[in-house]
Amino acid sequence: MPVVVQSMTNTDTADVAATTRQVRELFEAGSELVRVTVNTLEAARAVPVIREALLRQGVDVPLIGDFHFNGHKLLTQAPECAAALAKLRINPGNVGRGEKRDEQFATLIEIACRHDKPVRIGVNWGSLDQDLVVRMMDENAQASAPEDAEVVMKRAMVASALQSAKKAEQLGLPADRIVLSCKMSRVQDLITVYQDLAVQCDYPLHLGLTEAGMGSKGIVASTAALAVLLQQGIGDTIRVSLTPEPGGERTREVIVAQEILQSMGMRAFMPQVTACPGCGRTTSTVFQELAQDIQSYLRRQMPEWKKCYPGVESLQVAVMGCVVNGPGESKHADIGISLPGTGETPVAPVFVDGQKTVTLKGHDIAREFQVIVENYVRNKYAKGSAA
Ligand code: SF4
Repeated sequence: MPVVVQSMTNTDTADVAATTRQVRELFEAGSELVRVTVNTLEAARAVPVIREALLRQGVDVPLIGDFHFNGHKLLTQAPECAAALAKLRINPGNVGRGEKRDEQFATLIEIACRHDKPVRIGVNWGSLDQDLVVRMMDENAQASAPEDAEVVMKRAMVASALQSAKKAEQLGLPADRIVLSCKMSRVQDLITVYQDLAVQCDYPLHLGLTEAGMGSKGIVASTAALAVLLQQGIGDTIRVSLTPEPGGERTREVIVAQEILQSMGMRAFMPQVTACPGCGRTTSTVFQELAQDIQSYLRRQMPEWKKCYPGVESLQVAVMGCVVNGPGESKHADIGISLPGTGETPVAPVFVDGQKTVTLKGHDIAREFQVIVENYVRNKYAKGSAA
């Protein structure tokens, strides 16, 4: 089964218009599951309205409801919310304390069973079940060779997920309707916990480095953690929890998740552009601009291309700065262009399927190259094409 990309909205779910718009944007960016916060009765009542609005727009992405503290009440008062959701996410650390915890957990599971919905039991480092932690810490303190508190905490993460899953099964939720996650904010911790979890159960696992952060830090940390686990065959759905830059796009997290999977050769979502970093052999930024133009062009075309040109997501394009690696990389791509470096003849040879086909010159290279890419896509990927 392919690893699935999930994302989460950051709008107020009670704001139907804003949430519908953002779910649609995430879906159009390629999110295959979208999670929404359900924290108030207004939000719970908005969920079916959002679902309807999305369906009217042709957006049938499954919605996951994210519940903390009051999920049992909200779903009891607004059962239509459970009906409209494709999955419920509950956090065992935020279901309640003591006896209330068991009762409220049972209510949530009973609602999931009644509506035949899968449940993700999502443990989070920042909201770990404190009763369980205290119990495990006490046991550790009494042991003949007590372990480091951090080791016990990580074990508590896994125990919280597994014990909750077992309880859910005892309450009647079939095992194949349970997904687990144990999100941590540090890369090595996340890897350790998921490796442990994967050994101890067969439930599907949702992966994500929680609170990954902003910009390159969030992207690199998420990639480092997820890549190690995915390589080991651990993980069925992923989310990249990036903090958007002010004014930044929420869809960035979807693109990063796709790029992780595509870079690892696990899935193909978008034609890939190989571009060299440039060096002292390049005198201008022409090739950087060309690489960026082509990348944006490919992304813009994809919603339409996906419908007409099956397989186009595997297209490889190379944009290279000079003759050192340019022809070689270009030949390895489906289509490649090698721009002139310092002291080279001001021409740009284009390679198609490993063969040099044409040499572009002048100031219109970017547009001419785009036309070549477009024709290649049309000829190679059109439905019914023999290529
Ligand atoms: S391909 Fe040429 S311009 Fe690009 S990094 Fe290599 S040597 Fe530099």
